[in-house]
Amino acid sequence: MKGEPQKQRSFQSENPSGPCVGGRTHGRRTREPIRRVRLRHAMTLHRFREAQRRTTGVAAKNQYIIAMMAFLALVMLATGDPDMSSASDSSVARELFTLYEQFMQPDIQKRRFTQAQMFDWLTPLLQSSDIRSTDLGRSAEGRMIRLYSYGTGPIRVLLWSQMHGDESTATMALIDMLRFFTRHSDHPVARMIRERLTLLMIPMLNPDGAERFTRRTAQNIDLNRDARSLVTPEAVILKSACDAFAPAYGFNLHDQDRHYTVGTTRKPTVIALLAPPVNEEKTDNVVRLRAKRVAAVLRGALEQFVPGHVAKWDDTFEPRAFGDNIQRRGTSTVLIESGWWADDPEKMFLRKLNCTGLLATLDGIAHGRTDEVDAGVYESIPFNTKRIYDVIYRNATYQAVPDAPPVRVDVGVNVTGASADTTVGKGQTATVEDVGDLSTFSGFTERDLEGKRVDLSGIVLETPFPAEELNRIFGN
Ligand SMILES: [Zn+2]
Repeated sequence: MKGEPQKQRSFQSENPSGPCVGGRTHGRRTREPIRRVRLRHAMTLHRFREAQRRTTGVAAKNQYIIAMMAFLALVMLATGDPDMSSASDSSVARELFTLYEQFMQPDIQKRRFTQAQMFDWLTPLLQSSDIRSTDLGRSAEGRMIRLYSYGTGPIRVLLWSQMHGDESTATMALIDMLRFFTRHSDHPVARMIRERLTLLMIPMLNPDGAERFTRRTAQNIDLNRDARSLVTPEAVILKSACDAFAPAYGFNLHDQDRHYTVGTTRKPTVIALLAPPVNEEKTDNVVRLRAKRVAAVLRGALEQFVPGHVAKWDDTFEPRAFGDNIQRRGTSTVLIESGWWADDPEKMFLRKLNCTGLLATLDGIAHGRTDEVDAGVYESIPFNTKRIYDVIYRNATYQAVPDAPPVRVDVGVNVTGASADTTVGKGQTATVEDVGDLSTFSGFTERDLEGKRVDLSGIVLETPFPAEELNRIFGN
């Protein structure tokens, strides 16, 4: 970013028990005077600026947070929780699911949209005194990245979406959530979140990538591998936000490849969750354990709508990724990956699941339900497994070697194109991913060729070609 010092301190170089950890408290039983919370919020914004200028972890300035949180802890001990709800996460989610069409943004009908469109949807919401926006800084191409905040409670929760420009499902969900807060401000869920949490949302962290609907930033960098080097302005913005706000909880919002199933089942993964590890050994410290409980609550909220379709993302430590680093720094962080749902190429159902699941989980944090759930629920979630192709042609007769007898094979094909549709269409490209026994795989579409001879000459495995060719090879 122009005018910024070149040398940036990374997550890795900082003390993992540093400021984020020191600033933590659950504070769920706290009733802090609103004036004080607002004052602290303003000071936190000031700290964001400082953090962005120097991108340092800075123990000194966080002494203020530690002192404030110690005060909050005392208040917590002194106050009860008269609003503690007996509602379960699944019943809260169910009610929000029913209400969803009343508050969702109806103008969002495609998953591809620009930052300018997003601002058109978000700016009117700022008329509500409950929603505030702050300019955090500019992307490489100069687009302003904004933070939207809601609530004045003591528990800070940071949510960021679309750091990969073509992963917009959660951005839509965050817009819907903000509309829920403005249109149903008297709803108990909105009230609890407003009173006990301070939500800090950065929708569309990578607006340049969103403009092209590509994963990477305008500088061709994968933002989620820049948490350590911090060479992109977008990464500096996210890192600075974490430093300045010292959130207790974080939600890292993505979309995943649609070709995953839940464990060895043949069910496509609708949502994959992860409490990212803090080291190679995948140690369970208190921060990660708390994240696992949050993920367990979210899974409980979602499972009723998509039973058996929630998986756990690969938990290999990735030292360059944001989720792992933010968890390491003391923010209990959950990764949410939106996958695939049948007949939902624009991901509108997934958007609804994200919105209602997140709201129910935030309500769970506000009520303290996330402290009570067994982390074992998270451990029991099956891992994501890549076992689906867009199309499987089964039982084809295939002769690759002229002098050898033909063999009976299955052929697994994936298609890509402008649409998220899995069916073979004009303008899309196809890739033959595998040939052989694919009996352990499923296809979104399956065709039994019953021994029909197929000619794959000219096709190179794992190499894209025009999808129309499939009709020539396999017949219509
Ligand atoms: Zn992603």
